[in-house]
Amino acid sequence: MADTDYPASWYAATRDATPERPRLNGRVAADVAIVGGGFAGLHTARLLAMRGMKVVLVERQRIGWGASGRNGGFVGPGFALRTGALIERLGEDHARQLYAQSQRGVEIVRSSLKEMGRSDILMGWGRLSIARTDQGPDFAERSRALAKKLGATFEPWETDQVRALLVTPRYFQGLHDAQGFQVHPLNLALSLAADAERLGVQVHEGTEARSLERRGIEWQLRTAMGEITARHVVLAGNADLGRIHRLSGAVLPVATYVAVTGKLGPRLGEAIRWRGAIADTRRGGDYYRIVDDDRLLWGGRITTDTREPARLRAMMRADILSIYPQLGELEIEYAWPGIMGYALHRMPQVGEIEPGLWACTAFGGHGVAQTAAGADAVAAGITHEDDRWRLFAPFGTAWAGGALGRVGTQLVYWKLKASDWWDEKRQAKNAETLRT
Ligand SMILES: Cc1cc2nc3c(=O)[nH]c(=O)nc-3n(C[C@H](O)[C@H](O)[C@H](O)COP(=O)(O)OP(=O)(O)OC[C@H]3O[C@@H](n4cnc5c(N)ncnc54)[C@H](O)[C@@H]3O)c2cc1C
Repeated sequence: MADTDYPASWYAATRDATPERPRLNGRVAADVAIVGGGFAGLHTARLLAMRGMKVVLVERQRIGWGASGRNGGFVGPGFALRTGALIERLGEDHARQLYAQSQRGVEIVRSSLKEMGRSDILMGWGRLSIARTDQGPDFAERSRALAKKLGATFEPWETDQVRALLVTPRYFQGLHDAQGFQVHPLNLALSLAADAERLGVQVHEGTEARSLERRGIEWQLRTAMGEITARHVVLAGNADLGRIHRLSGAVLPVATYVAVTGKLGPRLGEAIRWRGAIADTRRGGDYYRIVDDDRLLWGGRITTDTREPARLRAMMRADILSIYPQLGELEIEYAWPGIMGYALHRMPQVGEIEPGLWACTAFGGHGVAQTAAGADAVAAGITHEDDRWRLFAPFGTAWAGGALGRVGTQLVYWKLKASDWWDEKRQAKNAETLRT
C-alpha cells in the first residue's frame, strides 16, 4: 500500500514509518481470532500473546485507521457514561470497581509505552475538565467527595486557578487529574501492532472479516481470500463491524472532528499557559491541547451525520476563536473527522456474548485507556484467569436502533446542547444583573 493510505491528518503526517501487513490468504488455525486493528483489538492481541496464546488479527483497512488513529490522544480514567450516572445505576461499590478497571486501562497504556521503549509517544501530563458555568461555592467539597467514592485522583481547581492558565472568561471551575496524560494515538496503535507481532501475533491489513459461523466448539471467520478457525473470536470493530454479527446493530456511529492549526508562535502560550489536555464538560464540548510546541490541536462537536462537513476548517476555526479570540488570524493546517461507536447506554460492550465469542467495543469518546481496560478484562476471561468482564454485564448488547436510533440520539444531543447553551446564557445574564 502507498504511503498516502492514511487519511490526511497531523497524526498521519507525523507517524512512524510502518510496513504494510499482508492480506490473509489461505487457512489458518489460532487460539483467538480478533476483528479490528484499533486499540481494542491491538491491546487484546498483545495481552493474549503475552499469555502465550496464538492470535490472528484482521483489519479491514490499516492499523489505527479508525478512531484509534484520529482521536484527541487524551488518556484518562472514567467512561462515556458520567460517573454520577454510573453510581446511580449500579451503586457505589460496582461503580468503583468499574472505575478502577478504567484506571487499570490508563496504567496498561502507560506501562506498554515503557515496555515498548516508546516514551516519545507520551506527549504530556495532566488532564483538566472545565465547567462553562459556575458550579457554586460547594464545588470543591462535592468533587472531593466524588473522588473519594470512586477512588479517583482528580482534584478541584477554582475558577481563578483555571483562568490564570486558560485566558478566557468562558471557563469556571475545573477538575484536574495529574495522572492523565496525552499520546500520539496513531503511533501508539502502530507500536502496539509491531509489539504484538514481536510477541507472535499474525496481523493482516486490508482484510475484512466477512462472515462468522460456529462449527462445533470452534468459530470460523471468513475473509475474501482466507479463513481463520479459532476457539475464541473477539469483535473489536467499533462502529463499523459490518454484517458478521448482530453486535454491529448495537453500536451507533457518531462523528466528531479534530483540527490542528499552523504554528502560532508565542501568542498560543500567552492564551493557553498549560501543557496538559483540556476539555470542557458540555456534551460534544471542546477538547484540546498544544502539540509541536506552538500548534493547537482542537477537537469538538458530535453529530450522527457521518459525512465530512464541507466547511469543517471554518467550523473548527470559529470554535477556537469563540474561546480564544485573542489568537486572531488562524490557519487550520489539518482537519479530519472520526467515528466513535456508542451503545445506547453509553458504556462499552465488553464480555462473552456467546460461548467463545467476545465483544470489546463501543467505547464512545472515552476509549484510549478504556479499550485497554476492556482488552485486559477480555484477555483474563479467555485465559480463565478471572471473570472481571462481568463488571460490564449490566450493559448488554441491545440494538441501538439503526437509522431511527441515530435520529433519536441526534435529538437527545440537540436537547442537551440547548440546555447547556441556556445554562450559560442564564448565568451570564445573572452576572450582568449583579454587576448593574
Ligand atoms: C475524533 C475523535 C476524538 C477522540 N478523542 C478521544 C480522546 O481524546 N480520548 C479518548 O479516550 N478517546 C477519544 N476518542 C475515542 C477513542 O478514539 C475510541 O473510543 C477508541 O479509539 C476505539 O477504539 P476501537 O479499537 O474500539 O475502534 P477503532 O479504532 O475504530 O478500530 C476498529 C477497527 O476495526 C476495523 N474493522 C471493523 N470491522 C471490521 C471487519 N469486519 N473486518 C476487519 N476489520 C474491521 C476498522 O477498520 C477499524 O480500524 C475519540 C474518538 C474520535 C473519533
